[in-house]
Amino acid sequence: MLLLISVNSWLGPDILPALFALGAGVFLLRQARGSPVWFGAGWGSIAFSLQASFWAFRRELGPGFPEFPATAVYLLGVLGWFITISQLEERSQPRHVLWLLPGLGLLLMAALAGLKQPMGGFKGWFDAGFAWFDVVLLFAFLPVLESGLRGQGLGKVLIGMGLVLRLMTSSMYYWLGLWPQGNAAELMLSLSYLLLGYGGYLEARGKNAGLGALVFSFASLAGLGLLLVVSLVVPKHPYSLYGVAGYAYFVLIYAVGIIAALHIGLFQAEQRSHRWVSLLEQLAAVGARPNQTLQPQSVLSDVMTALKTLFPHVTGLEIRSNETLKVGQKALYYTSFPIYIDDPAEVCIFMSRPPEEERGLEVLTPLLADKLRQALSLFEWRSKALTDPLTGLANRRGLERRLLRLLELAQTDRKPISVAMIDLDYFKRVNDTFDHSTGDKTLQAFAALLQHYLRSDDLAVRWGGEEFALLLVGAKLDEARQVVERIRSELSASEIEPITWKLTTSAGLSGGMVPTDKSTLQAWLLQADWALLQAKEQGRDRVVIAEPHLSRFTRYSTDS
Ligand code: GH3
Ligand code: MG
Ligand code: MG
Repeated sequence: MLLLISVNSWLGPDILPALFALGAGVFLLRQARGSPVWFGAGWGSIAFSLQASFWAFRRELGPGFPEFPATAVYLLGVLGWFITISQLEERSQPRHVLWLLPGLGLLLMAALAGLKQPMGGFKGWFDAGFAWFDVVLLFAFLPVLESGLRGQGLGKVLIGMGLVLRLMTSSMYYWLGLWPQGNAAELMLSLSYLLLGYGGYLEARGKNAGLGALVFSFASLAGLGLLLVVSLVVPKHPYSLYGVAGYAYFVLIYAVGIIAALHIGLFQAEQRSHRWVSLLEQLAAVGARPNQTLQPQSVLSDVMTALKTLFPHVTGLEIRSNETLKVGQKALYYTSFPIYIDDPAEVCIFMSRPPEEERGLEVLTPLLADKLRQALSLFEWRSKALTDPLTGLANRRGLERRLLRLLELAQTDRKPISVAMIDLDYFKRVNDTFDHSTGDKTLQAFAALLQHYLRSDDLAVRWGGEEFALLLVGAKLDEARQVVERIRSELSASEIEPITWKLTTSAGLSGGMVPTDKSTLQAWLLQADWALLQAKEQGRDRVVIAEPHLSRFTRYSTDS
């Protein structure tokens, strides 16, 4: 501060603001090469620099130097900053910043009072009118400042502070009808240009102000406050108290605002880390268990749900290969990355807005690609070879592929697996009496019924024709029998147009223990098939349990 004061008195009062504004302008124009939004602010600051220079001329040359050049460049400066401010994207509904309004009201009162001063009359109105452009600028900035106070960049808060300081200074002159003495006004102006330039730089770079910068601005504000008190109150100007009170009010509100912004920033950082953990947890859970009800689509929608915890604006997910797999909706913004599942494919993430954490999304893509590849290769969603097209169930090859995973699941959790073979009785009659499509419809209805009764780890397979295999994970033989009985009675209770008779099924059951290896499961399938044959021979519409150790078959059924 002392250094600033001595330089200022040495060079003449207007030099310092001119230099600071020029510096800020050059600095902002350099940023504008990367983000053009800042061109307006850059040229605006240079115009402010010219304004201070014209004042210097006027001070040197006396009233012979006209006043209008300073006024004209001042308006240009305000216009430049206005253009930049209106283009800044992050805005929020003004709420916290409304606390600034009483301060502005106080300045208005001071302005009205100032009209009675020597500078009053028409010229006073005219001059005070110019200060109002600063007010307009500040008003236009309020939504941006609000988002800064809500933790979206302290650079905005610095800019706001700069604008307030400029407004304070011009109010002193136009509204109180005098410059504060002891160079306070020039120092306030210089500091305001420093804040505008530095705040703009932080914003253009997407950086947050360090604590040091904030402490510096506060210390400067406090120092200026002191100067103001000395220059206004000590020589006792009739409206001094308004000026000092208004100044104190702004500084207070700003202090509270910045502390709140810092607090919100910390709070948001904590929230963000929570969301990251939750996202990673959800991703880890995607496709972790093999089951036939989980479709590729649901893998995608699980991934999308996980993504939404961190990127709420995600609207859809698409995987493009020879075939396209998608969930949700397309939107204006998207990011894409390659993925390799048997063949090269492309993953597209659609968003209704660009992501705030773009870097986060970049970091995430290898993990996403890996997860999607892992989960989707389980389903081999692009090859129909493993799925029966009529019923959507796995076919025999599909079962073959999943046996190992089922085995692993059963062994790690020490769960038994029961195997059931179910065949529709006299199915040929359906085809013969009606037509083949009625037969197809019946098979689809039966497959849906199976799906309905199975748990997520279970597997239903179209073994061939009208014969189905079920692998029930975690079910002992007795529990498996109950499931199959329920399916049986449900089918005979259901009406499938135009079939007029009750459809019955026969079933064979086997297993019911923790399988030791893949061949155990294969043996159980054969035994269940054998038990099914017994059920047919014993008159159909029943469930027969194979008892491999005793090599005989026990009948469990409702009597028909
Ligand atoms: P059983 O009680 O001994 O099982 O008698 P069934 O008539 O059900 O058995 P069979 O093996 O004699 O006949 C099975 C029939 O299933 C023969 C075939 O036309 C029919 N079928 C097999 N696959 C399909 C299919 O995809 N769609 C239709 N509509 N019919 C099929
Ligand atoms: Mg049959
Ligand atoms: Mg059959």
